[in-house]
Amino acid sequence: MADYAGGCLCGAIRYEIDGAPDGRMQITCHCRDCQQVTGAGHARSMGVPTDAVKWTGEPRIYQIQHEKSQVDCGFCAECGSPLYKRTTGLPKMTFFHVGSLDPQSARGWRPKITAYAQRRQPWDELAPLET
Ligand SMILES: [Zn+2]
Ligand SMILES: [Zn+2]
Repeated sequence: MADYAGGCLCGAIRYEIDGAPDGRMQITCHCRDCQQVTGAGHARSMGVPTDAVKWTGEPRIYQIQHEKSQVDCGFCAECGSPLYKRTTGLPKMTFFHVGSLDPQSARGWRPKITAYAQRRQPWDELAPLET
C-alpha cells in the first residue's frame, strides 16, 4: 500500500505516492494563480518528488506562462478537480492540492510555509503556521 493516495471528485483519476513528502514543502499559497485554480483564497499543497507518484488515469494539463517560469496545472478533464501544480522553478517536484488527498493521507499535513502572503485577498485569512 502506498504511503499517500488521492484522486479527483469523480474517481476517473487516482494517484499514489511512495515515501515521505519533503516536510518543508507544505505550502499555503496566496498567489493569483492559486486563487483562480482553486476558486478559493489560497491553495494548500504538499510537494513530493515527481518520480514517487503513480497515476491511474491521466490528468489534463493547463499551462500558465509566466515571465520566468511555466506552471503546469493538472486537473481531471471529467469533473474539473484541481490535482496538482508543477513549476519549471522546481522541476522535479509535484505539488498536490491537499484537498485531493484521501482524508487519512492528509491527516498529518500542516502548513509550514506561506507563499505570496502580500497577494492575499482582504477576505482571506493567513494560515497559522506550525513550526
Ligand atoms: Zn474526475
Ligand atoms: Zn500559488
